[in-house]
Amino acid sequence: MAEYKNPESEKEFEENFSQIKPRMTDTEAYYESSRCLFCYDAPCVNACPTGIDIPLFIRQINSNNAMIAAKTIYDSNFFGYACGKVCPTEVLCEGACVYNNTDVKAIEIGRLQSFATGKAIAANKAMFKTGASNGKKVAVIGAGPAGISCAAELRKAGFDIDIFEAKDKPSGLTVYGVAPYKITNEEALDEMSYLQKQLGYNVHYNKPIRTKEDLADLEKKYDAIFIGIGLGPTSALNLPGENLENVIGAVEFVEKIRMKHHKNSVPKRVVVLGGGNTAMDAASESARMGAESVTLAYRRGKEEMGAYHFEYDLAKGVGVKGLFNVAPVEISGNGKVQSIKFIRTKESNGKMETIPGSEFTIECDAVIKATGQSKQVELLKMIDGLSLDAKGKITVNESFQTGNKKYFAAGDSVSGGQEVVNAVADGKRAANGILNWINS
Ligand code: SF4
Repeated sequence: MAEYKNPESEKEFEENFSQIKPRMTDTEAYYESSRCLFCYDAPCVNACPTGIDIPLFIRQINSNNAMIAAKTIYDSNFFGYACGKVCPTEVLCEGACVYNNTDVKAIEIGRLQSFATGKAIAANKAMFKTGASNGKKVAVIGAGPAGISCAAELRKAGFDIDIFEAKDKPSGLTVYGVAPYKITNEEALDEMSYLQKQLGYNVHYNKPIRTKEDLADLEKKYDAIFIGIGLGPTSALNLPGENLENVIGAVEFVEKIRMKHHKNSVPKRVVVLGGGNTAMDAASESARMGAESVTLAYRRGKEEMGAYHFEYDLAKGVGVKGLFNVAPVEISGNGKVQSIKFIRTKESNGKMETIPGSEFTIECDAVIKATGQSKQVELLKMIDGLSLDAKGKITVNESFQTGNKKYFAAGDSVSGGQEVVNAVADGKRAANGILNWINS
């Protein structure tokens, strides 16, 4: 296991969670931008869900125009800084860079993007203009990437916007759900303040929309309503022992680490259940919080994990051990977790089967469940005409309009769970859907 001491101060926490994509210096940005080939019909642009003109902003950085580069980025993506840091660039823009066809490293597009936008945020450089008021009001439910992006785009078109957020901070997943070594709280929130100051949408914190009456009130007061509520808590596995102390959902675990930093303590021996990116984050974070052993247990083979390869490599790099083709059977303990029993699995005719008699037990002090999040269907079912698919995702048309014409939706409650950048892109498209509908 890599040597991480349990952090006892903010400084130690920052050392353990040092940024994997740190801000570039001016010299680094100049050098890196000078490597770009400024490709025609650049594949990096086609790979970006928000379609940022990447060669253009890199050229602008290269000619010492970071503020203009930031404008190019923000014209396409309101989360330009955050996306530069938290996007899986390895499989998006950087993964598509033509340098991948050679032995030369792909351009570090994400870091260049954060370099330029970070300068604009630090200088509080005015970047956006709100449109003349059109007298229309839109309510946005949820201040996550989709909600903020939708609100920002609508403010540019002159709408009045009220965002209703259940928690006490904006940016959703970016501040609550992303591993702290990808972006700091301060960085995520600075970009949010920068946007709100210029675009002037209202955010009402600690104001969840929960009841039919809440919805009726919004319907009465607003011309349209945008739903950007994301996903709910970690789903139950219905395993014996699941309610023991120190059995926790990965989303809740990551949020605790993000909000409380070194004031959390992680038990010595941790087992993480799951094979997706959230499982990798939870495992890496456990190790960086000083756990002595972290085991990632997945019911299928290593190659079948949903996580990106680089995320698994990051987890392995801090000492996380993989345990594949195992399914949890039971968690045991005396009030708190003491062990977890697994059974081995194998694939047969495309289906996973357990192998009789192959049970074994691992002693551990915590079990983190990274096996999927629930959908927030209770609220959605209260909206007349809005339909959900079999998985509880909101059904929308190409304009992101739901079955109830007054409601539009985007982000995880529609996609079922994608990257921040996808929610940003779709929130903006939904804003244009609202604009066209109201003007029609
Ligand atoms: Fe530059 Fe790579 Fe994009 Fe070409 S593909 S424009 S080299 S970043």
